Amino acid sequence: MIKKSAALFAEAQNYIPGGVNSPVRAFKAVGGNPIFIEKAKGSYLYDVDGNKYIELINSWGPMILGHAFPEVEKKVRKTLKNSFSFGAPTAMEVEMAKLITEMVPSVEKVRMVNSGTEATMSAVRLARGYTGRDKIIKFEGCYHGHGDSFLIAAGSGAITMGEPDSPGVTKGTAQDTLLAPYNDLTAVKKLVKANKGKVAALILEPVAGNMGCVLPKDGYLQGLRELCTQEGIVLIFDEVMTGFRLAPGGAQELFGVTPDLTTLGKIIGGGMPVGAYGGKKEIMDFVSPVGPVYQAGTLSGNPIAMAAGFAMLTHIQENPKIYKQLNEIGEEIVHGIQRINTKLSVNYSMNHIGSMYSLFFTDKKVTDLETAKTTNTALFGKYFQAMLKRGIYLAPSQFESLFLSTALKSKHIKSILSAHKKSIIEIM
Ligand SMILES: *Cc1c(COP(=O)(O)O)cnc(C)c1O
Repeated sequence: MIKKSAALFAEAQNYIPGGVNSPVRAFKAVGGNPIFIEKAKGSYLYDVDGNKYIELINSWGPMILGHAFPEVEKKVRKTLKNSFSFGAPTAMEVEMAKLITEMVPSVEKVRMVNSGTEATMSAVRLARGYTGRDKIIKFEGCYHGHGDSFLIAAGSGAITMGEPDSPGVTKGTAQDTLLAPYNDLTAVKKLVKANKGKVAALILEPVAGNMGCVLPKDGYLQGLRELCTQEGIVLIFDEVMTGFRLAPGGAQELFGVTPDLTTLGKIIGGGMPVGAYGGKKEIMDFVSPVGPVYQAGTLSGNPIAMAAGFAMLTHIQENPKIYKQLNEIGEEIVHGIQRINTKLSVNYSMNHIGSMYSLFFTDKKVTDLETAKTTNTALFGKYFQAMLKRGIYLAPSQFESLFLSTALKSKHIKSILSAHKKSIIEIM
């Protein structure tokens, strides 16, 4: 029964464009109406009709320890008593910045913002100010939030909605964004050569999660690092998704490649709206008020948001074994799905790393946007609905990664695999 959700969605559409505050939530790509959520705890989501779902998105990444994690909740409750915002510095911001620089060593200085989008927009402005160059290179299928410069072959909601390029982005802005295919070092080298001395920054997801989960090929990130060093280009790893998810120090720790700037979001706020950008001191000191590049925020470093993020990151730093645990959870689910798919002769392709995975309905190996698009999205829509009916909450789009949490126990994994098997039988 989803009566209350359906009624709320009907009402919402009168007052909110499409009834939602972020497009992919609308379920347009998978059919049906979105589920309105009332509460969540651990690995369960509860909707307004009283249905219970096992969580495989976890708020698109942040809830890596499961919902309402006690240490985070406690810290937020304690902080709430002192009012919610001052617009003046607090001790917690210093502790937070120190903690981030410890966990992500390439980040020598960091500036807090309120979302991943703000982080990437600010990082690119900084790279332009620092290098005195205008152009940036982004990769097809990578999503960096909804800043104008990035809405060109952006992944995630943009491909899901079939709107890779958004009206409202001026030609002038679009001209300064150069596009390269993901995982193709030769193509990006050519692009840099053709624009010699003009490229300020190269920005990418070191593991892509917004065209579905796509891993970098061996040597790809190293190759980009060398290219940027040679050409004086600022290398930006957008770790809004992978930061604190793949390792305490993000994908850069896992792959051993050091970017010049890093953007963070999602987990860093423990579920509150937080983003951050940071990197080399020399570059970060170009930011106002020490440097000339302007960037500001009334609510940046908000005490409640910092409390949630700080409690989350502290737990992660003190318990690095969670990454082994997340990897085991990921392997159990992924191997289970693979076994079932083989038995049932499903045409599929699976990408997996740690607590991120995507099941594509294609027999092509997915390594970039072009191969990701070979997936059968109509079949994915049916699969999504079949899983939802069985109490499993997936991302409502094929072009997203799933995000696992430490709250997933053996019994949840059993339910996921059993639902998968029944769903596949139903839709094939
Ligand atoms: C989610 C995401 C963003 C945007 O973050 P918002 O907080 O939604 O603005 C940017 N980059 C990547 C890689 C993301 O996954």
